Amino acid sequence: MKHIDSPGQLRTSYLDFFAARGHAVIPSASLVPDRDPSVLFTTAGMHPLVPYFLGAEHPAGTRLVDYQKCVRTNDIEEVGDPTHLTFFEMLGNWSLGDYFMLRHPKQPLVAIDTSKDPELVELHSPAFGERDITGIDNDLTRQHHGEPIGERITVSGRLLDRAGRPVRGQLIEIWQANSAGRYAHQREQHDAPLDPNFTGVGRTITDADGGYHFTTVQPGPYPWRNHLNAWRPAHIHFSMFGSAFTQRLVTQMYFPSDPLFPYDPIIQSVTDDAARQRLVATYDHSLSVPEFSMGYHWDIVLDGPDATWLEEGR
Ligand code: FE
Repeated sequence: MKHIDSPGQLRTSYLDFFAARGHAVIPSASLVPDRDPSVLFTTAGMHPLVPYFLGAEHPAGTRLVDYQKCVRTNDIEEVGDPTHLTFFEMLGNWSLGDYFMLRHPKQPLVAIDTSKDPELVELHSPAFGERDITGIDNDLTRQHHGEPIGERITVSGRLLDRAGRPVRGQLIEIWQANSAGRYAHQREQHDAPLDPNFTGVGRTITDADGGYHFTTVQPGPYPWRNHLNAWRPAHIHFSMFGSAFTQRLVTQMYFPSDPLFPYDPIIQSVTDDAARQRLVATYDHSLSVPEFSMGYHWDIVLDGPDATWLEEGR
């Protein structure tokens, strides 16, 4: 794939790609819509083209491509975080009744009825963000305006195959309780405080060496009502995707020397000692960040005799 390192290159590559496929390059329309009283500003790439979608003939033809200047309004409350700006440009390729039918899905969308089980949607799609991963998605301490309460930790390791080779470019998602042992989740029943500065979910893509890195806070243990006085040892849930979302593998990472290990039926369900140990991260002083965080190391092995124990498919 062509390397892109400036917004200008991104625009040009996009326009060139579609121009080579019969699309006319049209200029960005004004930020203030022309003779259109419906909105104060142009907010989306398709806005200036609405009359043509409604039947008017566009002078440039039926296949168009552009980059449109926009003012953010719909999600204006997100402005100010590291990835949302007030002004942005939207790349768009447009068909005015041209290739639309050929590209139309052959089946209607499948509706997911979440009225009885709000979590059902999580079984059908990645749950942690509809946008591309950004540089801060792996830092759970920077996702809100304030800092979360708790002991900061950094967790690093590598995603490996059975031969110890790095598995590159894979999506890793994590979710966890806050430092008080409470999940920010609608089904959470534990009566511990929520932290307004901690959602407890993160995402990253493994690098060329299969490496991943998260910054977060040490999760607290939590009660789970499985049996009398049942407490889960502190853990972070990990999900790894292969080359398709259907190849999702889920597991949990634990912390060294947790006194709850002997009481936890989930970790005890892994009866092989060595396999159980492989679910426990190692404290690594070289990964601790001075004046900032405790460092833990944890590698994930996808298959083979040293595979990390996974919740599904084994
Ligand atoms: Fe959990």
